[in-house]
Amino acid sequence: MQQFEQFLTAKKAENQYRTLPELVHQGKYVEQGGRRMLNLSGNDYLGLANQAGLRHAFFANYGDQLPACTASSSRLLTGNFPIYHQLEALLAERFGRQSALIFNSGYHANIGILPALADRQTLIVADKLVHASLIDGIRLSRATFLRYRHNDYAHLADILANNAAHFARIILVTESVFSMDGDVADLPTLVRFKRQYPQILLYVDEAHAVGIYGETGLGMAEQMGCVAEIDLLVGTFGKALASVGAYLVCDQLIKDYLINTMRPLIFSTALPPLNVAWTHFLFEQLPHFKAQRQHLAGLSGILRQAVAERQPHSNQSHIVPYLLGDNQTTVEKARQLQALGYYCLPIRPPTVPQGTSRIRFSLTADLSEAELTALIDCL
Ligand SMILES: *Cc1c(COP(=O)(O)O)cnc(C)c1O
Repeated sequence: MQQFEQFLTAKKAENQYRTLPELVHQGKYVEQGGRRMLNLSGNDYLGLANQAGLRHAFFANYGDQLPACTASSSRLLTGNFPIYHQLEALLAERFGRQSALIFNSGYHANIGILPALADRQTLIVADKLVHASLIDGIRLSRATFLRYRHNDYAHLADILANNAAHFARIILVTESVFSMDGDVADLPTLVRFKRQYPQILLYVDEAHAVGIYGETGLGMAEQMGCVAEIDLLVGTFGKALASVGAYLVCDQLIKDYLINTMRPLIFSTALPPLNVAWTHFLFEQLPHFKAQRQHLAGLSGILRQAVAERQPHSNQSHIVPYLLGDNQTTVEKARQLQALGYYCLPIRPPTVPQGTSRIRFSLTADLSEAELTALIDCL
């Protein structure tokens, strides 16, 4: 016990102690300790979570015959309700691919797919900055693991040139929009590596891109025109899609293989049919949220420009980091912005590298241009 206490004391001394914030949500605002602040830290990128009209329209479909609030079982036992197949069919059709598979969360997807597909003859090569859930999946897989410097494809080319000959399979892992830096992977370049090394399976996590990018909101893969060439295309429903869960879009063979091997799919109670029905309801409408996508793109451009005037900056998305360097300065700046009515949070090591502590603004289509301009005046 003493050991745990020492650990926490050290965290406090380093300004890295984590607590669960007590927040009350009011649309695009959050309230904490009696202070109302614009929420600039959420992932509700299209502002769908706050649209009571959508919720009412959803529930109006059912009267008093609501979908079940629990699946009561894994999908492999009795938990496989028809709505799962309906959502998977919808996903496969929209992405124009053979099949899709739903998971309880992005975390489940990322810790489950890689261990299921990788064996001792597999090499996993991942971008240095991929999400913790992918790192955990890679660790669980016990495959050989190499990382390339963030978005540095010359480094990736070197790694492949030096190692490809020794492995029957290579899984190349990246996010499309990176969660902490808000910059974007060059997916067509990654696809080109597949031509050179046919044993590559390309794995792309679109958690921060689905809903927001692409003509119909399918993500960066749609925007960059390479949906068909990504072997393992993962996205989540908990962010822009205002629901919960995750999907993989893939070939039927991979889906069948995962149903037989993927432990978080096999050994966990499936999502409640009510949530899956809500996801289906929103995903069906995804092409129609174009106005929100355009508005968010406009806001993002304004904030990126404002940050670029203050520091070197190479970001291309709605996630805009404002680098302050050390922990103390970052914590103080976040506190100051919160006092001014902006709920933004300091992001510190180990989430980001030492010396790159930052405030991470994550924009939503709920914001008005005037609200954003007022924030920029406070930077
Ligand atoms: C949020 C996130 C996840 C986890 O998804 P959940 O559905 O919240 O578990 C996975 N990958 C990335 C890149 C994420 O940002």
